[in-house]
Amino acid sequence: MSGSRLTETPCVPAPIPAMSHPRNETPACTPPILRWGFGAVMCVIVFITALSLWRVEVDKRVMRDMISHEQVMTEMLYRMQLAARDRTFALFGAVHADDAFARDGEIQRFYKFGTTFRQAQSQLMRLDLNESERVLMQQLRTQTEAITLQQQGVIELAVAGRQAEAEKRMIEQVVPAQTRMVATLTTLLEQAIRQTRERATARRQIQHRATALLLAGGLAGLLLTWGGFVLTTRKMRGLLTRLTEAGEHLQASNLDLQFQKLALDEHNIVSIADTHGNITAVNDKFCAVSQYSRAELLGRNHRLLKSGLHAEAFYADLWATISAGKVWRGEICNRRKDGTLYWVASTILPFVDEAGLPSRYVSVRTDITTIKEAQGVLERSRDELERLVQTRTGELAEREEVLHGITNAAQDAVIMIDASGRVTYWNPAAEQMFGFTESEVIGVGLGELIVPERYMERARISFSRFAETGEGAALGRTTTLQARHRNGVEFPVEVSLSAIKLRGQWSAVGIVRDATERVQTEERLKQLATTDPLTGICNRRHFDDVLASEIHRAARFSSPLSLILFDIDHFKRVNDSFGHQAGDRVLTQLAVSVSNTIRTIDLFARWGGEEFVVLLPGSDLNAGRVLAEKLRMALATQPFSDVGQVTCSFGVAELAPGDTADALIRKADHCLYRAKASGRNRVETPATPPPLGDA
Ligand code: GH3
Ligand code: MG
Ligand code: MG
Repeated sequence: MSGSRLTETPCVPAPIPAMSHPRNETPACTPPILRWGFGAVMCVIVFITALSLWRVEVDKRVMRDMISHEQVMTEMLYRMQLAARDRTFALFGAVHADDAFARDGEIQRFYKFGTTFRQAQSQLMRLDLNESERVLMQQLRTQTEAITLQQQGVIELAVAGRQAEAEKRMIEQVVPAQTRMVATLTTLLEQAIRQTRERATARRQIQHRATALLLAGGLAGLLLTWGGFVLTTRKMRGLLTRLTEAGEHLQASNLDLQFQKLALDEHNIVSIADTHGNITAVNDKFCAVSQYSRAELLGRNHRLLKSGLHAEAFYADLWATISAGKVWRGEICNRRKDGTLYWVASTILPFVDEAGLPSRYVSVRTDITTIKEAQGVLERSRDELERLVQTRTGELAEREEVLHGITNAAQDAVIMIDASGRVTYWNPAAEQMFGFTESEVIGVGLGELIVPERYMERARISFSRFAETGEGAALGRTTTLQARHRNGVEFPVEVSLSAIKLRGQWSAVGIVRDATERVQTEERLKQLATTDPLTGICNRRHFDDVLASEIHRAARFSSPLSLILFDIDHFKRVNDSFGHQAGDRVLTQLAVSVSNTIRTIDLFARWGGEEFVVLLPGSDLNAGRVLAEKLRMALATQPFSDVGQVTCSFGVAELAPGDTADALIRKADHCLYRAKASGRNRVETPATPPPLGDA
């Protein structure tokens, strides 16, 4: 792969942000949160310790002051008690002294103790006393002043030698006052002792609290330190893990990059250009595809490869995109050195510098010339196909127009139905023929529109069979059917039906012609062929046809069949006497008369001239004879215009097994002959004995 390398080594892509920490660089060692955490813990510990020490110091000073105060107070009170006691003893001594020297000595002691008492008292007064102590001290001072005056009075009495009086005052005044004062002193002393005890207890409690605070502070510090330690350990572990992962990721990325580079060099056309589009590096593939050597390409502008196929706006858009630092993707047609064109699918990647501006562009392209050529072929084929389709569509439209013109102009109705029998096409002739407009019938079932009610069920079955199989009895031929006009009038139509399959569904196209005239003509012709023109009854030919079929039927069903043959008597005379036309009128009147007498199923026909025949299906010889008699009587008694009375002779015969039409006729004719021979105006049957002389 050494040959595939890009030639410009300095063109190393700008570092990818994710790789911006070189592997050997120590990451910012301690996160700020940890630094701040440690700082906070240390501050708390220092604060708690300082607070505790300060409290201990304060307590110490307070205790010292308190002890000093209580000591002084106790000491002074005690000294005052002793001084008071000793002064009283000295006063007693002075009162009971035997001589003046001893009395003076006691009085000196009395004053000395008085001084001690006052000194102690003044020291007490200098202390920081509370309210009750001050009250007691005030009380003590008042008592002391009163006692002092009383004691002074006792001394004066003693000095004056009035011992008894002095003693009396001592006992009655000084000693009780002294006792009250000592009581006050005792109260003060007790109060001082109690206060000392209370304060000591309070101080102890304060000290306990301070100790507890110190312990709590220490414990909190310990916990915080431990927490910080754990947090730091975890954080450090996390950092180490991330560092390891980053290292592995870097390694993987490096491998990926190597693979990508291999793939790029192998299959892609790669180039690097500066911000002006001047080529600074190309790979071998670039040279092979463009047919330029590397030396010819380096330093040249990409414009060298311009094919001229793209508009300037195309390049302007490309440059606008990549200059803005965005990736451009698209297909470009370039020109090789030999002038031929080639197509590439390009991705142009701008590499931005630290200022965020593109510093160079890396282009990765794939040769898509073959694809483009194939696309061109496809496009040309598609265009050709489109042209063909357009031509064909035009032809079809033309044909449709012609067809439409034909069907519109057609005299016959052209109707198209889908598999479910609904109308899909309906030409103007159909509108004319059935009275429905196209808009009224499209999508409506044909049966509902034009099929008479009695044929509806049959039509429904035919439609459903047709939908399934595309087959039907009326398909592929012309059939005469009865149709119904919008106004309800029925008329015959000739229908030519054919089936076609459109998009997998059967449809039928019918050309319908109004057959009224034809049917009428046919019926007229048929009537002419079977009817006697003078009398309007059946002619002999038709009678022969019916006779043959009735003989066949009678034989098949073993039913009786009789035949009456009769002839007008002496008709020649009628003609001769009244003229041929009068004879004709007789024939006509007779035909009407007989037609009104016979049954509907009987067939009455003119056999020839003035001879007639009546075929009686289902009637035996006797029934035939009875009818013949009835006819004879009716004719014989009926007055014929211009002519008057006319009689007829009758021969009756019944079909015997094996009889042909001729045999039957012959039998009847024979009987008729006999009737003539027997005098006319009579009925003869084979059973009738022959008239005399007829043999
Ligand atoms: P009979 O049968 O009683 O023996 O006597 P007849 O006079 O009827 O004898 P015949 O059958 O021989 O004559 C039939 C006559 O009927 C002859 C013919 O002129 C007449 N005739 C036949 N066809 C027609 C017809 O169409 N119109 C008229 N006016 N006369 C007819
Ligand atoms: Mg006759
Ligand atoms: Mg006759």
